[in-house]
Amino acid sequence: MPVSCTAAPPQPKVQRPDKTGRYGQFGGRYVPETLILALDELTAAYEEAINDPAFQAELDHLLKHYVGRESPLYHAERLSERYRRPDGSRPEIYLKREDLNHTGAHKINNSLGQALLCKRMGKKRIIAETGAGQHGVATATVCARAGLECVVYMGEKDMERQALNVFRMRLLGAEVRPVTSGTRTLKDATSEAIRDWVTNVESTHYILGSVAGPHPFPMMVRDFHACIGRETRRQAQEAWGGKPDILVACVGGGSNAMGLFHEFVDDADVRLIGVEAGGEGIDTDKHAATLTLGRPGVLHGSYSLLIQDEEGQVVDPHSISADAEALQAFQDLSRLEGIIPALETSHALAFLDKLCPTVPDGTRIVVNCSGRGDKDVMNAANYLPHLSGGSTQ
Ligand SMILES: *Cc1c(COP(=O)(O)O)cnc(C)c1O
Repeated sequence: MPVSCTAAPPQPKVQRPDKTGRYGQFGGRYVPETLILALDELTAAYEEAINDPAFQAELDHLLKHYVGRESPLYHAERLSERYRRPDGSRPEIYLKREDLNHTGAHKINNSLGQALLCKRMGKKRIIAETGAGQHGVATATVCARAGLECVVYMGEKDMERQALNVFRMRLLGAEVRPVTSGTRTLKDATSEAIRDWVTNVESTHYILGSVAGPHPFPMMVRDFHACIGRETRRQAQEAWGGKPDILVACVGGGSNAMGLFHEFVDDADVRLIGVEAGGEGIDTDKHAATLTLGRPGVLHGSYSLLIQDEEGQVVDPHSISADAEALQAFQDLSRLEGIIPALETSHALAFLDKLCPTVPDGTRIVVNCSGRGDKDVMNAANYLPHLSGGSTQ
């Protein structure tokens, strides 16, 4: 049951963090003293890099020739038609095809940018955390290309669930370190990666994959993904000579949403909608609606919204493999457009059922198609027994 949280308009918009890395009350740096110097160094190296035309040129070259950018803005005619109303009106739905990038999702934009930054800083070793494995695969990929040592921390439970991605990372030359503490999932893998970084900060760069962690990570991750929104603006201008009316993206770690939204934050006429996974319902404890239901707190080095228990202990979001509405959207896009979306993306697509009946005729909606669903088909097959096995169909 996907739930949406429209980007909060009441607060003044704080796009650029202040000197302490804060966006309004959020962000900051809640880390051990040993990391402050490293974060200062990283911030300086990053600022220098993005202002160096040679760095930008190399990044742009690789985004084009290695990642395959720009990704198309595709008009989903049959999906739009599905939302036609009795009076003949309908929205026009477009998909920003991040699923067509190398490795099958948006994640490589950030991993590539940070790997180039790492080389520039003269570091030879990369660490990363991963949940479902996509960020680990994207990072292992760019490390292989750049000849960097790569260690990926992954919860033991996630390793069991995502065996194919574990194999891919190893095939790409990365070491996958199982994390056996806590819930043996992403939160613990991230804590372990931060611990490694504290110990090896001289030789090692940490490629964080979410819009999270201490400053400058949220800013950096956002900036490396901002090509998604910049292309969208240009492509919309070319396709219909205007802007999109509404942008929709799923929100897990926030990176594909920020990548699409950032370009449009100052456009008051463009609505930005982030969709979180509601799991079995936001009135149960089995959901991942951190922004919708979270309370402010500190985790992994920054001040953010977290799901907490009565004592303020951080509760792991329910790991959503597939809720019913997302699973339906997963099948619908496959059949209507011949595009098998990732299950994460399917949460954003499922929200169209709620959104489309409420918008005026001809409203142009861009959904960030953050990734392809190949990684999810085995999992989905468990929920769709009529499509799997047997020889009769
Ligand atoms: C990782 C992933 C997400 C969720 O991460 P964000 O940081 O919220 O973008 C969404 N879609 C796909 C395809 C992913 O691989």
